Amino acid sequence: MIYNLALLGHPVSHSKSPEIHTGFFREGGLKGGYICLDTLPKDLEKNIKSLQELGFKGVNLTIPHKQAGLKLVDYASEEAQLIGAANTLIFEDNGKIKAENTDWIGFQKAINDLQWTEQSNISRNALIIGAGGSARAILLTLLKMQFKQIGVLIRNTDSSKQNAQGLKLLFDKYFESQGISSSDCAFVIASLDEIDQNKTGLLFEQIDLIVNSTPVGMSGFDTKQASYDASGEKQSPISERQINLITNTNCIFYDLIYNPIETEFLRLAKTKGFQTRNGYSMLYDQAAEAFKLWTGFQPKYFQL
Ligand code: NAP
Repeated sequence: MIYNLALLGHPVSHSKSPEIHTGFFREGGLKGGYICLDTLPKDLEKNIKSLQELGFKGVNLTIPHKQAGLKLVDYASEEAQLIGAANTLIFEDNGKIKAENTDWIGFQKAINDLQWTEQSNISRNALIIGAGGSARAILLTLLKMQFKQIGVLIRNTDSSKQNAQGLKLLFDKYFESQGISSSDCAFVIASLDEIDQNKTGLLFEQIDLIVNSTPVGMSGFDTKQASYDASGEKQSPISERQINLITNTNCIFYDLIYNPIETEFLRLAKTKGFQTRNGYSMLYDQAAEAFKLWTGFQPKYFQL
């Protein structure tokens, strides 16, 4: 069997996915390859169909195709539907295309590997910074892991406010789909500007996990868009003063960004003695999960 796979996105030249998947092929002794195909939105449907006709087993979708891809398939997993985005399409032998989202599993595996205190998830509080596409996958993971309080910190833009309402809808739909009450989980949306005014209250002081799901701090990201006054490479979605408000010394800082290896957000947290982790583990684990869906082979962890 030959497993030909591809990544469709725009841009895709910077992607680490081919390297990661090449490692999986080697480890599993499987035949095939993983290519990057720079794809503009207008060409997405055409490229998916062409690769399917060429006998590819599936594709990964990245920015800006994760939402659009979901509309081009025959059916989707419950998780992809809840998140409203697909990062993995599986071309089935019967000609049908299935959409999956492995980002949430990648994040779950990544945070399961962290050094947590003994307490159980049902007493844990988490904060997500940002409300975009990846925040939806993060929220689903935290709901599945039964976190007690989940806060979302957003900047003061129409798009952030609208996306945050979308997260609230995801929250409601999740509990509805499980047929259980949402009363054991508190969901709070707050403005990044409100942290200093302590409007987020106890949630902020007693958090166990804080996740940066914004591109702030990413290599090449425009400094002028940073949410507080920072210069040069020193961009963090929250300031040092705000980090000082976190009183739980066991709080874990997770940044979805993996380039640079240590963002300003993680650097500041590390200086204060907090446990930190960058987004490589999530990137790797979502790729491993997709590879398993296409080939049946479960790769082990390796660092590029
Ligand atoms: P996205 O859909 O564009 O969402 C970005 C979010 O960040 C939006 O809510 C946006 O708010 C907010 N934001 C942007 N600039 C901000 C600022 N200066 N201050 C506060 N908030 C700001 O992007 P995404 O797909 O969620 O990706 C976010 C990051 O995660 C990227 O760096 C991406 O590379 C990374 N990522 C990593 C993995 C992994 O496997 N490790 C997976 C997915 C994504 P507005 O709506 O107001 O602009």
